[in-house]
Amino acid sequence: MIVRKASTEDAKDIASLIHRSFGARQQLDPPADADSETVESVAHALSTDGGWVAVAEDGQIIGSALNDRSRPGALGLRRVSVEPDRQNLGVASTLVSEIELQSSVERIWLTAREELPQTVAFWVKRGYHIVAMRSPYVELVKATSVQVRVPNLDDTRTLAKKISAHLVAGDVVILSGDLGAGKTTFTQFLGEALSVRGPITSPTFVIARTHPSLIGGPSLVHVDAYRLESASELADLDLDASVDSSVTVIEWGEGLGEQLSDSWLHISLSDDRIATVNPCGPRWLEAGLRAELSG
Ligand code: ADP
Ligand code: MG
Repeated sequence: MIVRKASTEDAKDIASLIHRSFGARQQLDPPADADSETVESVAHALSTDGGWVAVAEDGQIIGSALNDRSRPGALGLRRVSVEPDRQNLGVASTLVSEIELQSSVERIWLTAREELPQTVAFWVKRGYHIVAMRSPYVELVKATSVQVRVPNLDDTRTLAKKISAHLVAGDVVILSGDLGAGKTTFTQFLGEALSVRGPITSPTFVIARTHPSLIGGPSLVHVDAYRLESASELADLDLDASVDSSVTVIEWGEGLGEQLSDSWLHISLSDDRIATVNPCGPRWLEAGLRAELSG
């Protein structure tokens, strides 16, 4: 599946996808105004503000979203649609994470219907933060993610240094990526930049280790969740007790950050040495992380 910008030629496919996608939802009162969308209205929206499509291997458009550019510096998404028989297969997730990366804005906002708590929960889990409730609409906002190439150790050190400048006590950093992707190395450079007591090593038997600050700043709590069997085992580590006074870094922590804080920074390291920095939750809305890391 690839995600690309939509052109007006996609209007017919997008309009019918919107109808199938919104038609598969429960009836709402008042009904979603997506019902009244036509090929012409979609074509008009695409020509003024643009949009996005997710295209399956066979060429079929299985996901789409329309842009709302009425707010400077932020991108609004509306009519986020997924082919009904492809739902719950990660199409929506991939669509929105790709839009975040490709859109070069600081923030993305959207609205969801409060009568659809699963939809609201979908966005919250991805780091979107509820900023307003205007019944029946819930407005959510998220800082966008950014990719940084880190082909050698110096690049990782620079990235860690830039990120460390934004970190304060209470922040949670989630690291994901395969074995050898550079998670521990990144944590070491982060510890260096934060001036905490080392050495930071791969925790083999010890799952969580605290590195106190040498300069009166926050300590760094380094967790390796690789051996944790379940989210409840993370709860057993009692990180809640230290999270407020520390910067907590969790290797293999994908999907666990939400447990500790309403905000977390997810850094995903790939084997081809690309770091995707994904700021989740209200903490990062005004942080300007994207501007700094992409500049
Ligand atoms: P992980 O904790 O993700 O399993 P490590 O941090 O232990 O991975 O790194 C594995 C190896 O990759 C180490 O030898 C490390 O020096 C090297 N490495 C990490 N980051 C980079 C990078 N950006 N460029 C080149 N080598 C790197
Ligand atoms: Mg490691």
